[in-house]
Amino acid sequence: MNQHTEQCLAKLRTTYHSGLTKPHAWRKQQLQQLQLMLDEHENEFLEALQHDLGKSSAEGWLTELGFLKSDIKHTLHHLSGWMKPQRVRQPLLAWPGKSYLHPEPLGVVLIIGAWNYPIQLLLSPLVAAIAAGNCAIVKPSELSPKTAQLIERLLPDYLAAEAFQVITGGAEVASELLRHRFDHIMYTGGGRVGRIVMRAAAEHLTPVTLELGGKSPAVVLADADIAVAARRIAWGKWINAGQTCIAPDYVLIDEAKHDEFIAALKHCCDEFFGEDPQHADDYGRIVNRQHFDRLVGYLKDGRLAFGGEFDGDDRYIQPTVLCDVEPESKVMQDEIFGPILPVLKIKNLAEAIDFIQNRDKPLALYGFSKSGRQLKQLTEHTHAGNQCNNDTLMFMLNPELPFGGVGSSGMGRYHGKFGFDTFSHMKSVMTRPFTMDPKFRYPPYTSFKQKL
Ligand code: NAD
Repeated sequence: MNQHTEQCLAKLRTTYHSGLTKPHAWRKQQLQQLQLMLDEHENEFLEALQHDLGKSSAEGWLTELGFLKSDIKHTLHHLSGWMKPQRVRQPLLAWPGKSYLHPEPLGVVLIIGAWNYPIQLLLSPLVAAIAAGNCAIVKPSELSPKTAQLIERLLPDYLAAEAFQVITGGAEVASELLRHRFDHIMYTGGGRVGRIVMRAAAEHLTPVTLELGGKSPAVVLADADIAVAARRIAWGKWINAGQTCIAPDYVLIDEAKHDEFIAALKHCCDEFFGEDPQHADDYGRIVNRQHFDRLVGYLKDGRLAFGGEFDGDDRYIQPTVLCDVEPESKVMQDEIFGPILPVLKIKNLAEAIDFIQNRDKPLALYGFSKSGRQLKQLTEHTHAGNQCNNDTLMFMLNPELPFGGVGSSGMGRYHGKFGFDTFSHMKSVMTRPFTMDPKFRYPPYTSFKQKL
């Protein structure tokens, strides 16, 4: 095992056992420091996002910095309430006495982030870990290097170094970290590495939260407002050039509305990014050459409705819609994670449900219909980590909703109180007075007592 990691962990363990991280005032101050870091270095963060992913400032603010700041604000507002023990009823058999749940921190946790939202996906779990009173090591993704370097440089200036550490590097660094014992691991990324993380965690019986991905479908029924549905799907798909874990991966559209929907998507694309998206301010880039090549490979898996242009030197792929796609094709097997949107025809809701249920449980599911009954049917007859009706991505803005996958799209949840709970152990506590100690509960269990 690496000595540096071992020393770093030993330092954090000592801090944790000293009790430093437990008081409300300390957690609050660390969260405020994190807020201050984001405020004071906003431009640097936005520049790093621009460098790593071609993210425009507006997009970077909306999906990363703004999101994180409101996450911190919400957490600060509710923290003292979340930390309070929760009283529960005392059953008659254990009376007199009182019972309650005491949220205690888990200890030293590991947070492994992904590259597509490299600030939010690393620091939002950290907000929850701080709120719950833990020490943490955070490992940013090596695929968004500028952002990773910036976090590595800035975090120690704002957060207590004896409680929080940033360790940068790639798979070998992550593997080394995973050899050590943590009290919880939160990993965000693909399922292949998710399995590696879970296997490593099993060695130490460490609980894991796995925020994974998958193919998130959008179902558009005949009665939906097609223009609005197309606009919201186009927004959710092409934000960050499609590299969003909850982006609509493919669309199932009522066959009668197919052509109208494609035309509406094209209209939105022109409106959002103009005739030449490569030079649009608000259109991002593919993270690296490997992902670029993978994505270009999907372009042959259907008929081009529009888009399809690409430029390897610029890691640019045009917003693209594919029609006449075979469900068995590669683009319908892998999570796309890029700006290519297959649109498949369905006859009705039942066919859409059948299609979704015959595949892995998605991270997000989007239903578009004016009929509350049909949307409810979609909810009740499918599995998905999260569902959003008549819109995309927006459910992320509600901290009262837990975010997380199910089945192959992940396990565990966070955001708001759910994040606090993920990084806490709800210790059950019962306290009884010494008074009233009737002998009938103690041996010998005579036949008279057994009848009681
Ligand atoms: P990635 O390549 O950035 O990897 C994620 C993390 O795993 C990185 O920190 C990386 O260093 C680490 N890693 C890589 N190889 C490893 C190994 N062998 N052992 C241990 N750690 C290792 O991210 P990715 O996997 O390309 O991310 C894309 C996937 O993440 C998509 O499937 C997407 O849907 C999913 N995702 C999910 C969420 C969510 O919140 N549920 C968010 C973003 C992305």
